[in-house]
Amino acid sequence: MTTDTPEESLDPANWADMHKTASRMIDDAVAHVEGVRERPVWQQMPQSVREGFLTPAPMKSTPLDAVYDEVLSTVFPYAMGNIHPRFWGWYMGSSNFTGALADFLAAIEGSNLGGGDTAAAQVDRQVVNWLKELMDFPASASGTLTSGGSMANMVCLTVARNKMAGVDVREEGITALPKPLRFYTSDQVHSASQKALEALGLGRRALRVIPSDANFRMSIPALEQAIQEDRAAGCEPACVIATAGTTNTGAIDDMQAIAALCKRQGIWFHVDGCIGALIKIAPVNRTMVEGIEDADSLALDPHKWLHTPFEAGCALVKDAQLHFDTFELHGEYLEEKPRGIASGGFLADYCFELSRGFKALKIWMSLKEHGVEKFGCLIDQNIAQAAYLTDLIHTDPHLELMAPTSINIVCFRYRNAEAPDEDLKALNTEIMLRLQESGLAVPSDTTVGGRHCLRVAINNHRTKRQDLDLLVREVVKLGQELEAAAP
Ligand SMILES: *Cc1c(COP(=O)(O)O)cnc(C)c1O
Repeated sequence: MTTDTPEESLDPANWADMHKTASRMIDDAVAHVEGVRERPVWQQMPQSVREGFLTPAPMKSTPLDAVYDEVLSTVFPYAMGNIHPRFWGWYMGSSNFTGALADFLAAIEGSNLGGGDTAAAQVDRQVVNWLKELMDFPASASGTLTSGGSMANMVCLTVARNKMAGVDVREEGITALPKPLRFYTSDQVHSASQKALEALGLGRRALRVIPSDANFRMSIPALEQAIQEDRAAGCEPACVIATAGTTNTGAIDDMQAIAALCKRQGIWFHVDGCIGALIKIAPVNRTMVEGIEDADSLALDPHKWLHTPFEAGCALVKDAQLHFDTFELHGEYLEEKPRGIASGGFLADYCFELSRGFKALKIWMSLKEHGVEKFGCLIDQNIAQAAYLTDLIHTDPHLELMAPTSINIVCFRYRNAEAPDEDLKALNTEIMLRLQESGLAVPSDTTVGGRHCLRVAINNHRTKRQDLDLLVREVVKLGQELEAAAP
């Protein structure tokens, strides 16, 4: 390059053209979300489209309008469908338009939220403070926004490990632990906790799985007994992981009893509240999660019941100093300064990541726009809809409920008193796949108490009761058709 080589940038040659393309995207986006109910929830991608994703890296330029056309024809039609009113699979949020606009604005603003004296960092801190407030955590607690619940649990369990290790685990590593640590959770635990303990070097063996009762809540007598056994065997009972809203059935562990037990025993009390923590803002049902405020650490997931566009999770820790001591580390290139951009504290001192996106803005804007009360009512609405669906199942002789409905998750199956469980599994799986492939509705499935079932998680602000009526009609119709066709 010589001094007369023209210098390039990524900015458009013509901003007016960019404005035109961007406006088209906004128009299409509004129409897309407005018309979501009229489209199939999901459709399978044809092979010809699939092949388009196998082309090599594009070395030359393509006009943005053409790139966008490709997105419209090859990406948008084959979405997961979780923004659709009849998507109830696994456990997703259904996003919201303001949150999507906020993601765009956050990218335009462009800050890196690892640290720095920026308004973006203030928004991030404020969102964490709001979540502390909503969870009845004290102002002295700390927190960090994460990519999701898995990372939020990972952050919390790292603080718990370091606190309970009995050695400076940052310096000495886990091989220096004087006693093996034990973590306790029910058999309904989410895989995220197990993955976290594996990654923390403690191994799967550190996780003691406590049986759950008939309502899929952790058995407290069994928990107490396991703690006693472990102490007697020379292990260090370090942490109980309670679940506020299990993934299988939505069961909420008895957090008051677990909090009291942990206090007596000097054990860290962590709550995985990725599903249920936000019930605390729901006026009708909030007492279901009493005791969550006593947790030493809490993982929650704004991208679930706050419908924040993916991704946004949050870890809260009661003892801010312990949280800071777990993650604080500054390279010589990242010294904090009393003035200037590198002042005012680093958000990266509370998590694994250094570079962090401005995901706080999408939570901040939608909470301001709608107000917390609206989100609380939507949570109550989903819980009432699950009770409505449960009633429909109870009154239909072709269906049976497979687990008590505690919150917004309903486990049921098409029944046949004569058929063995394995045949019913095949039949219900086929019903589920046909529902998904027809684009009519998306339930998922699971196994509870050793028996397979369909699972409908109504974490969706667009669902109406009529959608659940339709689901029940279709499940029964498909079940009858499949039985009639069977040899
Ligand atoms: C969803 C979920 C997680 C994992 O959260 P992600 O946001 O998917 O990473 C952990 N625990 C429970 C109970 C969950 O429902």
